[in-house]
Amino acid sequence: MDWFELEKEYLIPFYKRQRVVFVRGEGCWLYDENGKKYLDLVAGIACVAIGHSHPHFIKRVEEQLKKLVHVSNLFYTTPQIELAMKLREISGMDKFFFCNSGTEAVECALKISRKVTGRKKFVALKGAFHGRTMGSLSVTWKEKFRKPFEPLIKPVEFVEPNNIHDLEKKVDDETACVILEPIQGEAGVYPLDEGFIKAVFEERDEHHFIVIFDEVQTGFGRTGKWFAKDHYGVKPDVIAMAKAMGSGFPIGGVGVTNEVAKKLEATEHASTFGGNPLACTASLATIEIIEKEKLVENAGKVGSYFRERLSELSEEVRGLGLMIGAKFENAFEIVRRGFDEGLVLNATSEDNLRFVPPLVIGKEEVDYAVEKLGSILRTLT
Ligand SMILES: *Cc1c(COP(=O)(O)O)cnc(C)c1O
Repeated sequence: MDWFELEKEYLIPFYKRQRVVFVRGEGCWLYDENGKKYLDLVAGIACVAIGHSHPHFIKRVEEQLKKLVHVSNLFYTTPQIELAMKLREISGMDKFFFCNSGTEAVECALKISRKVTGRKKFVALKGAFHGRTMGSLSVTWKEKFRKPFEPLIKPVEFVEPNNIHDLEKKVDDETACVILEPIQGEAGVYPLDEGFIKAVFEERDEHHFIVIFDEVQTGFGRTGKWFAKDHYGVKPDVIAMAKAMGSGFPIGGVGVTNEVAKKLEATEHASTFGGNPLACTASLATIEIIEKEKLVENAGKVGSYFRERLSELSEEVRGLGLMIGAKFENAFEIVRRGFDEGLVLNATSEDNLRFVPPLVIGKEEVDYAVEKLGSILRTLT
């Protein structure tokens, strides 16, 4: 079968894919249709935290699959409540809502901020990525993503990241929320300064808007803490989560404080699939594995080692835990050559690689990756 040709014939041309067909995965490794093996440093864009085909994940999801998949939120189901209990424990947020993706989580967070404050204005950051549906797109920075779909939701103001003066100018008593990624992911992995985050909360105390942390990419241990907010020691009013939440199984969610939850009522928001027994079980299994195998700690430890090793090859390495960005010229070409060398890589721009491997990765795999990357660089010069 010529899958490349068939894709072109049958799929809407929204994606620019790498020319590889993956059929199987195990831990940090992926296998293509010819049985060739690749070290996965992308994890389905920071999703497959526990690695591919984890036996406990398979067992839990399989058992639930046989019992009950979906009944809707007209009724009570146990995995949804169990997941909310677990999330309170690991996130410190009080109450939860479940949906099916990152962009849906952001939509819900934005709606909550308008409902709770009675205000309209969204404040986001330059460089931000929050998703592709109309609301999330409105607070996403890249003109190319937004332009064809205007008019989007208004009013929105964009603040220069880490510029406290710009922040002070753009928030006021009309502001419904400030939404931010504690580490900007799609922009190439740029962590926000502690001072800037602190200023956001000071402005909130003055103007009483909602602070939304978009932890869709940073959540579930990726940065060496359960959530990136924990590096800054803050409690946002709302957090949005998804990506690693079900380790590749589609599930997203929003966590809020009790104070926010008090101002929300039945029928104000909903999702047909959101929080169904199968998705919530996939998330519970993911969290169980992250806890049992100490993957949060592993992300911190192996992440530091990975950044250290990458500094041998790159003059600029950024990030926390296993969410890493590094400056490499000809990044797209490096990604292409990576496939020949058996490395799955991701470039966010012509001069930046993003590393978001499964959290089960060890030093041995990091050494393997750095060695391969080094030899790719040598062939480029
Ligand atoms: C990926 C991502 C989203 C969008 O998630 P989808 O599941 O693709 O809708 C939103 N915010 C951040 C920070 C992301 O990284």
